[in-house]
Amino acid sequence: SQYLERIKEINPAVNAMVQFDEKSVQDEAGRISKKIKDGSAGPLAGAVVGVKDVLCERGKKVTCSSAMLKDFESVYDASVIRSLREKDALLIGRCNMDEFAMGSSNENTIFGPARNPVDTEYVPGGSSGGSAAAVAADMCDVSLGSDTGGSIRQPAAYCGVVGLKPTYSRVSRYGLVAFASSFDCIGPIGKNVTDTALVLQHIAGHDTMDNSSSRKPVDDYLKGLESEDRKLRIGVPEEYFGEGLDDNVRKLIEEQISALEKDGAKIVPVSLPHTKYGIATYYILATAEASSNLARYDGIRYGHRADFREIEEELGKETRAIEKDIKNAVGAGKEEAIERLSALDSPLVRLYKKSRTEGFGDEVKRRIMLGTYVLSAGYYDAYYAKAQKVRRLIKEDFESVFSDVDVVVSPTAPTTAFKVGENQDDPISMYLNDVYTISANLAGICGISVPAGTHPNGLPVGIQFMGNSFRETDILQAARRVE
Ligand code: GLN
Repeated sequence: SQYLERIKEINPAVNAMVQFDEKSVQDEAGRISKKIKDGSAGPLAGAVVGVKDVLCERGKKVTCSSAMLKDFESVYDASVIRSLREKDALLIGRCNMDEFAMGSSNENTIFGPARNPVDTEYVPGGSSGGSAAAVAADMCDVSLGSDTGGSIRQPAAYCGVVGLKPTYSRVSRYGLVAFASSFDCIGPIGKNVTDTALVLQHIAGHDTMDNSSSRKPVDDYLKGLESEDRKLRIGVPEEYFGEGLDDNVRKLIEEQISALEKDGAKIVPVSLPHTKYGIATYYILATAEASSNLARYDGIRYGHRADFREIEEELGKETRAIEKDIKNAVGAGKEEAIERLSALDSPLVRLYKKSRTEGFGDEVKRRIMLGTYVLSAGYYDAYYAKAQKVRRLIKEDFESVFSDVDVVVSPTAPTTAFKVGENQDDPISMYLNDVYTISANLAGICGISVPAGTHPNGLPVGIQFMGNSFRETDILQAARRVE
């Protein structure tokens, strides 16, 4: 009840929850309360969870903030949703996001921008902006987000909460609407490290519905958090403290690093030399995968369908006009007109084009075009194949660093949150924002953002720890020490 009240009070200003049905939440809460009373409740009973609108939830609209999916209702639960439900978590509502998880500000959305609860003139970050804002504004205990290039960690940093991107394949992607399948990860956002670890515990592990999910046994993350006396070796990569980093963000991160050292951690300067290629590599590979994944939204098999009758009428009109021209034409004009007639798109092609034109927003279209371009014959080797090789080099950078240190520390983002509208017409500066988070996705390793203090401008700053594959315990332990 407290959370429902809070949503009603603050959501109109923050716009973090885009779907919530009070009645069904109350019914579900009643069912869980009964189980708590009779002692049969699962380990997440009492936990109130927000869900990014990219995860399938039975009977709910799963829109991905896109006109393309505005009427799509899921008939099944994503595996992470099923796990939470089985453990008696209460799913309170669906969270705003950038369309198809493409963005860093939660401004690319049919629902209108989500806002940062710390100051609603500012963005909450993205693409899981609604999930982070909902936790920060106390509309739920924890939430689920997805992270393809930083979309859990960056909004967590901007909103002053904790966000964890697990190792690629640690959590099943079954029921996650795909953006870039070799990068996508589902993970938790919470008010503290323990809650984040707890949710991860219950969503991690192999799933027969996602054969790419790892069979490696899941560590006991909460137990890992108890071993506070372990001396961590923390790598500080020079490439993450260079040009573009806000001075006050740098200062806060350096203060945290000094405090960690005083606390007994071993601080090791390290180098990740291919970092500077991260953004270019990511925006080639992620857009390539997106162009392929989003091909399914054709208005026929999936997604918004343009008005077919209108298309037939238009085509009829154009056909009749050309037929008239053919009739009236003399000499070469006749052949020309016949050519025009045969060049007309068929009704199905028109349906496909119009459905996609109406259904996708600008940023999604930009990504589909970029991705199609880098995959096209003649450019494939220069872009896609090359980027795959650089991805490998970036992964190898981390492999070599992790033979010396347990975790790598950095800022989560180069600046604090920016104002709503400030970067909207500048996709490049928006992409540059991902500079510190993207490498973890390219390498498939895990990362966490945890609050590192307040900037003189009053906005939260996040510190990021990245850990080797399947070493979530290491980053949780590091995060606990700055909490
Ligand atoms: N900001 C990045 C992008 O727009 C990351 C998105 C994500 O992690 N889903 O692609």
